[in-house]
Amino acid sequence: MEKTPRIRLLPDIVTSKISAGEVVEAPFSVIKELVENSIDAGAGRVDVKLLQSGLKKITVSDNGSGILSEDAELAVKDHATSKIKDVFDIETINTYGFRGEALSSIASISDLTILTRHKTEKNGTKLHVRDGRVEPSQWAGPVGTTVIVENLFYNVPARKKFLKSPQTELRYARETFLKAAAGNPAIAFAFDTEQKRNISLPEAVDLQERLRQIYGNETADNCYFERIEDSTAALFGMFSKPHFLKSSRSLQQLFINNRPVEYRYLSFLLSKAYEAVAPKGKYPAAILFLDIAPELVDVNIHPAKREVKLFDGKYIDGLILRLADKALSKIHHIPDDSFSPVFQPSPAKEPEEISHAGASAEKNLFEAANRPLQIRDMQQLYNDIVRPKDYSILGSVFNSYILVQKDDSLCLIDFHAAHERFIYDELIKKSSETDKQKLLFQSVIDLPLEEFHVIADSIEMFTEMGFDIEEFSDNSILIRAVPSALGKLNEKELVMEIAAEIRGEKEPRKIYNAIAALSACHAAARAGDTLSVREMEILAEKVFSGEYELRCPHGRPFVHILKKEDLKRIFKR
Ligand code: ADP
Ligand code: MG
Repeated sequence: MEKTPRIRLLPDIVTSKISAGEVVEAPFSVIKELVENSIDAGAGRVDVKLLQSGLKKITVSDNGSGILSEDAELAVKDHATSKIKDVFDIETINTYGFRGEALSSIASISDLTILTRHKTEKNGTKLHVRDGRVEPSQWAGPVGTTVIVENLFYNVPARKKFLKSPQTELRYARETFLKAAAGNPAIAFAFDTEQKRNISLPEAVDLQERLRQIYGNETADNCYFERIEDSTAALFGMFSKPHFLKSSRSLQQLFINNRPVEYRYLSFLLSKAYEAVAPKGKYPAAILFLDIAPELVDVNIHPAKREVKLFDGKYIDGLILRLADKALSKIHHIPDDSFSPVFQPSPAKEPEEISHAGASAEKNLFEAANRPLQIRDMQQLYNDIVRPKDYSILGSVFNSYILVQKDDSLCLIDFHAAHERFIYDELIKKSSETDKQKLLFQSVIDLPLEEFHVIADSIEMFTEMGFDIEEFSDNSILIRAVPSALGKLNEKELVMEIAAEIRGEKEPRKIYNAIAALSACHAAARAGDTLSVREMEILAEKVFSGEYELRCPHGRPFVHILKKEDLKRIFKR
């Protein structure tokens, strides 16, 4: 007989570990809580340092108010806070913290050290907490607070199992840091790790300048900054100009009273606002800051305060739409090269122009087809000449498909998708010496900080594929050469798109494939490009060579075959 388990109260040390899990999921949560405490303390400078993505050590120092010696021990007790006195204060809260849980939670699952001196006191305090034991001592240091968190989760091995790879945890940590920095332009921030790449954000004059520091000049120059307000709320935002759209939603974020929040309807609202200018699969950047009386939002529905409840969602939605509208209705200059050829009346083109567009595309394809010139290719070349072709090219339709007659079939080839496949295969072919083409003008690409780090982390993969690329400054990348298979392309646009695409990805193989697939897509002849007969031949030759999978890198088939029998059936013969 099994004994019926009895109900009992858990000891404090167990309950505190359980509730710590709600506040501290991973190193990024510690960073969020500590940086918010520094901001709440009126700091003008906040420095974050990580060792081993924060698992070994996280240090956050500030030059804020400091903690009174008498209060220091209390700060690490559960539900101890200086920020509210009673339940009514929660309604009008204008600090990040108020639950008084962060320091105590962190203390229960790490070695915590606090060094602090209050601005009104001569002497400071050092506090060491481990396994529930608090050891205070005197400390002589500057005004402000340094919190050191070591061996996070040392006593909750289960938590450790749920952590992502060190690179991913580091990325989360960086994202969390940047989100905290975004809404506080008057504060200087720094982020250091044992790697050489660090982030430093000097004090900025306003939000717009801070966003420029974080997202880079390239992005800021291609965005509108707008602001509207009424008696209830003010909304400020950075919005993509219509030609500057991204292939992911990674640059969309709403802040409410400077708290980054997950607002479910944001992406929907933005796609509505950009309906007229954004093609399918393209998304605007939109970083929005809503300032609203604190009693009109409830931030207390989630322990990490990630979600908020709004007094009137419809009203906020209306505000976001109005601001986007205001930004988009600005008279703007669209650079000439962003017009897609689809908008050009193609039959009316001068012969000159056509041959110009065709010539560069032809050069591309032709080069790709003839390189690298190895024995097998020589043989192929020879075969080409002596072997009578068993197909004939009939032409192209809709500037998108090549029509080929082969044996008893009519083949339609989607030339963009086919071209994509051939370039892709060329890129992922692991050859020791990939052909490169030097860019006439080296390209410096200024990236949003988060994306810069993502690209910088993947430089080896780019190199392996034939890019000559390196870190140029702490937020820009220099490109000297691209793989020859890519021909002429806009490498800036390509790198920005790759950055956005691989940002959430942690599996190296997927990152590698994404780089190759996007490069191929950018380099491939587009629907609307005019192909010469020679280009069509090269494509068809490759299609029928049997050496390629007849699907684009995303998996869409690019050859459709109509059999003679099918036609007979259609015409009921
Ligand atoms: P909360 O932020 O919700 O009040 P915390 O556990 O994060 O709770 O912090 C407890 C208290 O410790 C704070 O209310 C504040 O008084 C003090 N404190 C924490 N960090 C700092 C800091 N960096 N500078 C000054 N005081 C701090
Ligand atoms: Mg706090």
